[in-house]
Amino acid sequence: MKFLKKIFRKIFKTENDKKVKALFKTVNKIEGFAENMASLSDSDLKNKTFEFKERISKGETLEDILPEAFAVVREAGKRVLNMYHYPVQLLGGIALHKGMMAEMKTGEGKTLVATLPAYLNALEGKGVHVVTVNDYLAKRDSDEMGQIFKFLGLSTSCILEGMQDFERKHAYSCDITYATNNQLGFDYLRDNMKMEESQLSMRGLNYAIIDEADSVCIDNARTPLIISGQSDQSVASCEWIDGIVRHLGPKHYEKDEKMKTVTLNDAGIEKIESIMRFEGVIGADETLYEHEHIEIVHSINQALKAHTLFTKDVDYMIKEGQVVLIDEFTGRVLDGRRYSDGLHQAIEAKEKVEIQSENKTLASITFQKFFTLYNKISGMSGTCMTEDEEFEEIYKVKVIEVPTHKTMKRVDHEDEIYRTFQEKLEAILAEIAQAHEKGQPVLVVTGSIEMSEIFSTAFRNAGFEHRVLNARHHKEEAFIIAEAGALGSISIATNMAGRGTDIQLGGSVKEKVKVLREQGLSEPEIAEKRKDIEKAVAKNKEKVLAAGGLYVLGTERNESRRVDNQARGRAGRQGDIGKSKFFLSLEDNLMRIFGSSDKLDKWLVRLGLKDGEPIIHPFVSRAIEKAQQAVEARNFDWRKNIFKYDQVLDEQRKMIYQYRMKFLKNQEIKDYLHMFVKAELEQLKEVCFSESGEWMLSTLHEECIRLFALNIRFPEWQEEGLSQAQAGERLEKMIEEKFNENLSEESLETMRKVFLKTLDDLWQDHLSRLDHLRQSVSLKSYAQKDPLVEYKKEGFVMFEELLENFRENSISFYFHM
Ligand code: ADP
Ligand code: MG
Repeated sequence: MKFLKKIFRKIFKTENDKKVKALFKTVNKIEGFAENMASLSDSDLKNKTFEFKERISKGETLEDILPEAFAVVREAGKRVLNMYHYPVQLLGGIALHKGMMAEMKTGEGKTLVATLPAYLNALEGKGVHVVTVNDYLAKRDSDEMGQIFKFLGLSTSCILEGMQDFERKHAYSCDITYATNNQLGFDYLRDNMKMEESQLSMRGLNYAIIDEADSVCIDNARTPLIISGQSDQSVASCEWIDGIVRHLGPKHYEKDEKMKTVTLNDAGIEKIESIMRFEGVIGADETLYEHEHIEIVHSINQALKAHTLFTKDVDYMIKEGQVVLIDEFTGRVLDGRRYSDGLHQAIEAKEKVEIQSENKTLASITFQKFFTLYNKISGMSGTCMTEDEEFEEIYKVKVIEVPTHKTMKRVDHEDEIYRTFQEKLEAILAEIAQAHEKGQPVLVVTGSIEMSEIFSTAFRNAGFEHRVLNARHHKEEAFIIAEAGALGSISIATNMAGRGTDIQLGGSVKEKVKVLREQGLSEPEIAEKRKDIEKAVAKNKEKVLAAGGLYVLGTERNESRRVDNQARGRAGRQGDIGKSKFFLSLEDNLMRIFGSSDKLDKWLVRLGLKDGEPIIHPFVSRAIEKAQQAVEARNFDWRKNIFKYDQVLDEQRKMIYQYRMKFLKNQEIKDYLHMFVKAELEQLKEVCFSESGEWMLSTLHEECIRLFALNIRFPEWQEEGLSQAQAGERLEKMIEEKFNENLSEESLETMRKVFLKTLDDLWQDHLSRLDHLRQSVSLKSYAQKDPLVEYKKEGFVMFEELLENFRENSISFYFHM
């Protein structure tokens, strides 16, 4: 296996080299324009934008003008931001334009790279979205990079949490819009719930450049975006159930931490039944598992999960009296996201905060499906090579590894593994003391907020001055992380906190200047101080380099290698020297749950490992790698699973949204109405006129009243001697007449609204039925049926029903109007 892997890697390497080489040809073309661009005046440079737009309108393609357009952006970057794209940045830009995922290491300047394809693609006037991982970065990047676009005559904006619809609309109307994946996804869903065209925020999904693409497309893709509304489950019942579950102990359930599942065992069921019997909820000889208690059983399961599988400050935290989710990879707060299916309420009940009434899904989409709605997507990240399979399979994009601007000099050390957490902690303290003495800055990376606080306390006790960076200090994050490379600084961060902010050795001139600006200093004053700052930072950097550069110290392995690599990547940017090393113990979560650490432990004791002594042995390293692979495989399965299920929904969602958009834009209302009437009539004839010539009189009569508001005496038609065909024609004529009678501008406007409202109601109902269907099919897997196949089958039937109901409800409304 290993051998094969090696070969594959080699083949891939050469293939990647080939791709890179091919793209370098275009880089040379761009370079060929450099002198010419440098000679242009500012206004001539800006005029290039108009020239390009005109050339495009006359039929030139974006590929045709790419080299020249990139050269224009590059020159603008130099004049406005004093940053001239490096050749490898041009290369990254070309890859992005071609719709690829570009792996570019931390500090390579991906923000600046994105300006190239963003400018080029914006020339078509259909909008470009640059996707960032948080609002802070959306604002920062649109402010900074926006200067280049503005200089070249294009508009830029960003979407931020809390913006009103009209602000969003304006931002989306700009040539280039910076926004997080959450904002974009939610705006898409919200737009598809609007009642007037004028309320739409977005103007279509054209081209997206996704920064930190692995975080957005892989890590974030495990939970779908959900817009929910209120449903009926009461607060009281959540509290009541929570109270019951509190009576349970470990002997009442089976817990599987690996799969994150927990189920009541017989003892647990008995216990709950006895409580519920006592409270009179179930009868003396009734059991919990009767179908009328299905809701209760479901709520109990969720409450049990809340109590046994979800931990405060690891999975979620309490912020302003609310339960908010924590991204397990980034340690960031996931604002606005809630666990689905009653779990969130269960956690609220557990934490005794206000319970938000049970939510029902009004609209939902996975990121996997959302991003494929764009005409083109591309992305960049320091770590996405390892995920190339998933990118290709799910997002249909190829991954390319872009070479670094300068050769990487960071040294990645072997892991040091201890038996216990305590020994590990002591080793870390000793290591930090050593680095600190030299003045070497250390970034200590932890796996959770809880851990970062444990380390913080230990550091405080040991007398290390340090700063902590986690989801609680969101606002100062950027500044702290930017300063994490200063002489002697010690920072603790959850694994990817501060993604997107660069750690420069010696500190960040840019961040320091920003602070001055916030303090209200005038630009000349800042310019004056800037020189001193630059000098101080340069001096500081020299000392840091002498001390060995930034040291990234990992305190545990994360669930995936990729996230570990991301952490390492913090050090050694742009050819700086640096170092990374992980300290692990057999008591770490990863090892405990996935790494069969008890076996290892016995083995180590037998080998005679002494206290405080680290193990560096390939056997142990392999066990860790295996554990990580197990988690990765599980996570990939989860993502695949939600993707597969969303796939079923996707076709349906597309169809409904397509209808909706037409109705919203007041297109073809009459045609649709007419079409529905015809379809219903045909169906009625089919059902009521049998081949033997019989008429189903009562159904005919009732349906004509219900659907077309026509009260017809069909027996009289029979007496007249009408054949079925003649009756059909007469009926059609009557309906047609009535249809035209009712037809007016007003009635069509009413119908437009009825269409929208009916479709929304049915769709939302459909979504919650699908939710239930999903749960019930997963039970069916015991009956040796593939749940997904069942889900597809039944989901299809339900959707047919939805469409039929939609037609019937709307035409019936029309004729009764
Ligand atoms: P990444 O996202 O790839 O980690 P950033 O976009 O945050 O990197 O950029 C890192 C730093 O490098 C920023 O301070 C940025 O201003 C600077 N930078 C990027 N490209 C250039 C360039 N061509 N010339 C000078 N500085 C650059
Ligand atoms: Mg970045």
